[in-house]
Amino acid sequence: MTDFSLSLNDDQRTLVDWVHGFAADVLRPAAHEWDEREATPWPIIEEAAKLGIYSVDFLANAMADPTGLSMVAILEELAWGDAGLCMAIMGSTLAVAGIMANGTPAQQIEWIPQCFGAPGDLKLAAFAVSEPDAGSDVSSLRTRATYDERTDEWVLNGTKTWITNGGIANLHVVVASVAPALGGRGQASFVVPEGTKGIRMGQKFSKMGIRASHTAEVVLEDCRVPGSCLLGGKEKLDERLARVREGQRSSSQAAMATFESTRPSVGAQAVGIARAAYEYALDYAKERQQFGRAIIENQAIAFKLADMKTQLDAARLLVWRAAWMAATRTPFSAGEGSMSKLFAGETAVKVTDEAIQILGGYGYVREYPVERWHRDAKIYTIFEGTSEIQRLVIARAISGVRIQ
Ligand SMILES: Cc1cc2nc3c(=O)[nH]c(=O)nc-3n(C[C@H](O)[C@H](O)[C@H](O)COP(=O)(O)OP(=O)(O)OC[C@H]3O[C@@H](n4cnc5c(N)ncnc54)[C@H](O)[C@@H]3O)c2cc1C
Repeated sequence: MTDFSLSLNDDQRTLVDWVHGFAADVLRPAAHEWDEREATPWPIIEEAAKLGIYSVDFLANAMADPTGLSMVAILEELAWGDAGLCMAIMGSTLAVAGIMANGTPAQQIEWIPQCFGAPGDLKLAAFAVSEPDAGSDVSSLRTRATYDERTDEWVLNGTKTWITNGGIANLHVVVASVAPALGGRGQASFVVPEGTKGIRMGQKFSKMGIRASHTAEVVLEDCRVPGSCLLGGKEKLDERLARVREGQRSSSQAAMATFESTRPSVGAQAVGIARAAYEYALDYAKERQQFGRAIIENQAIAFKLADMKTQLDAARLLVWRAAWMAATRTPFSAGEGSMSKLFAGETAVKVTDEAIQILGGYGYVREYPVERWHRDAKIYTIFEGTSEIQRLVIARAISGVRIQ
């Protein structure tokens, strides 16, 4: 039995310090440029790949940590460097999570390396669930997958929206309805490999924040993939659908299974943004003189910083708890994954807002990073389940009541 500890061990510390160096030396200096350009930062992803940060091995190593803390600690560092660049580097892992949650071991071995490629031959991956009329309500997906028995192929039709790396990814994991009458229980995930015909990018979105991360529509028009691209396989799907039709409980929806496992990681990124803003505001408050004294000497400013630090640390503790629970397969009995994402996302918005206030006019202009951090923070209350949906998950978990 290991003693309880909230300190990172030597291996975790070494890993986190190394990633921090990359965040400080590569991401921070590049952040403003890629926010302004709003384009995929290929040179930065390439740099991450050369260092081994954008790779299967890096991900596997972080995920192998039995405490679960390595992954969230690393993500905090990357987002501390810059959230948009962090998403550009880590966006492919959403698809990896989809493959891990629903794929067979053979499918995981086949597809996960193809989400990253190699230095000089980078690949990107995307996880496509959301649709114009199905955001929070993922049970109402309209994208259909129909099985063509003659050719043993699945035919995908529909439009996905808000997809990170959508249309520029080499590999897409697409969640589609295979049995519309069964709603969310009639869905399955498909790998759409590189070079598949019938998949294309629709509109590319211009965003408020995380602008270095590409977000676009993905249009599927008679997009045919081999039967082997159905994650989990047909036999398992048929068994699951039969159980649902008989009225038995089935395992959770394809999309929900993925989101549940990624929520602490999303929360960790929000913690990284909040920390960046808090540190910057603290330094600034000690330097900035008004009325003949540093502004931190005013309780009004010092207490803001005290609250910012308290909220930041509380958010990290919730993220670490959820990551530890996920790694040790401790069930989220009270929606702890959602709690971590909810609190960290809202903390990032609050802390970055207060940081702007502490910097005054300097906080509001693009020459300083604080306004960018605020713009970046906002997405953490929206994607991978809005704050309202996280509250719904928690409320249902603690009450057992089907709250609407
Ligand atoms: C930058 C970005 C990147 C994204 N990346 C991806 C991606 O890679 N893959 C992917 O599949 N999706 C992605 N998304 C989509 C994202 O997950 C959705 O935007 C999100 O789930 C919300 O869906 P929606 O935008 O349709 O809002 P809606 O679901 O329409 O919600 C609108 C408002 O109503 C509230 N609401 C809805 N239902 C309820 C309810 N039952 N109770 C209380 N309030 C409710 C919501 O909380 C929200 O405030 C991304 C989005 C963005 C902006």
